[in-house]
Amino acid sequence: MKLSRPQEECGVFGIYNHAEASNLTYLGLYALQHRGQESCGIVSSDGTVMHSHKRMGLVADVFGNQKVFKKLPGKSAIGHVRYSTAGASVEKNVQPILVDYSRGSIAVAHNGNLVNAQLLKAELEAYGSIFQTTMDTEIIIHMLAMSRNNSLVDRIVESLNRVKGAYCLLFLTKSRMIAVRDPNGFRPLCLGKLGNAWVVASESCALDLIEATFVRDIEPGEMVVFTPDGKVESLFPFKKVDPTPCIFEFVYFARPDSTIFGKNVYLTRKELGRQLAREYKVEADVVIPVPDSGVPAAMGYAEESGIPFELGLIRNHYVGRTFIEPAQAIRHFGVKIKLNPVRELLKGKRVVVIDDSIVRGTTSRKIVKMVRDAGAKEVHMLISSPPTSYPCYYGIDTPNRKELISSSHTVDEICRYITADTLGYLSEEGLVKSVGVDKTNFCKACFAGTYPVGFPRPEEIPQMGLFEEGQNVYE
Ligand code: SF4
Repeated sequence: MKLSRPQEECGVFGIYNHAEASNLTYLGLYALQHRGQESCGIVSSDGTVMHSHKRMGLVADVFGNQKVFKKLPGKSAIGHVRYSTAGASVEKNVQPILVDYSRGSIAVAHNGNLVNAQLLKAELEAYGSIFQTTMDTEIIIHMLAMSRNNSLVDRIVESLNRVKGAYCLLFLTKSRMIAVRDPNGFRPLCLGKLGNAWVVASESCALDLIEATFVRDIEPGEMVVFTPDGKVESLFPFKKVDPTPCIFEFVYFARPDSTIFGKNVYLTRKELGRQLAREYKVEADVVIPVPDSGVPAAMGYAEESGIPFELGLIRNHYVGRTFIEPAQAIRHFGVKIKLNPVRELLKGKRVVVIDDSIVRGTTSRKIVKMVRDAGAKEVHMLISSPPTSYPCYYGIDTPNRKELISSSHTVDEICRYITADTLGYLSEEGLVKSVGVDKTNFCKACFAGTYPVGFPRPEEIPQMGLFEEGQNVYE
């Protein structure tokens, strides 16, 4: 299925020293479900043996049966929700990966994407490594197994010194848990406490659900080692670089109730909307969001502009990612499956529609048509982020460059394509100002094209056709 917007990557959760480790990991994954809906898994350790349960499907489906937890005993566990950014979406690629090697058992869960994976994989295969999965994460396991260092920490450091890209990693052995965030700190990772247990999660919303206390973010380039004697050791074993956390986590990926990189996501999104209102003053009767992620920005826009906020588009929350239109359908229902306008609100009105991003433009075009068909007199589309013109190589699944409408078309052309009366994007300066984390130099590569961690670029085809024969609003 073609993506109508960038997709979340993955989420990781780990807990160390709690009698209900796997149950709590299940809840943590439940809170992180928005970061990946294709598959999930938990690996636990009872101190002697490691246990694993993982499948394709949502957390509630894979772990919905209490009997599963009897197979996941122990006081430590790590878990993973996955949306495939590297490696196909198949059973063998479900994480955490659990392996036995010469020094024992180890499990790993990874959020992010390694940009030199192909190179390292080819090198490892030349030395005889046989890969079980098509995930970049497996490369780390192979390098770790081949390392001659005696300590596990040194083996992990040696392996990670060779990889480039984005990673938040959780390792679990029979006796230890280790969390690592890459030196650029692309993805969020936080540390929490629940009684005597330590918790690590991609986002703070997972700590809230299990009533753990937020302790702090795990820093870019930090490795945190949890050991059976109760010690928690913080190390910074990698070459220091200027951190570049992903600014798009604020725009779209993270849950609004989470605090990431030191800021609450909901309040930040609202500020994006306020800034959008300062940049685009539109004469209009009503502001409506594209739900759900456009809601806080639309509220901010309404507050700043004084134009009333309404929920003019209602989302069906029960449409899963796997929805398949009936084969006998005589027409394509498209976005109508997910969204329906409130005609009584929109009829005869000048409407501002707020969304967080435009990827291909096809969804925005359908939304504009839907609002117009509901009787709107004017439709002004405003986007709470700058044009996404470049793909992400750090763990967000964006289409390739030629499919990103902003890569080859001006704002006026896109406006014409989506058939809006006006189209406006938040400026890059406005985005950075609204996020407003002191001294942080965020990754903005998908807007600006400057990639903080380099790699060979794939060949690009420059133009996406928009106004060709056969393109119509009813597609
Ligand atoms: Fe985030 Fe964009 Fe950078 Fe990817 S390229 S890490 S989505 S800011």
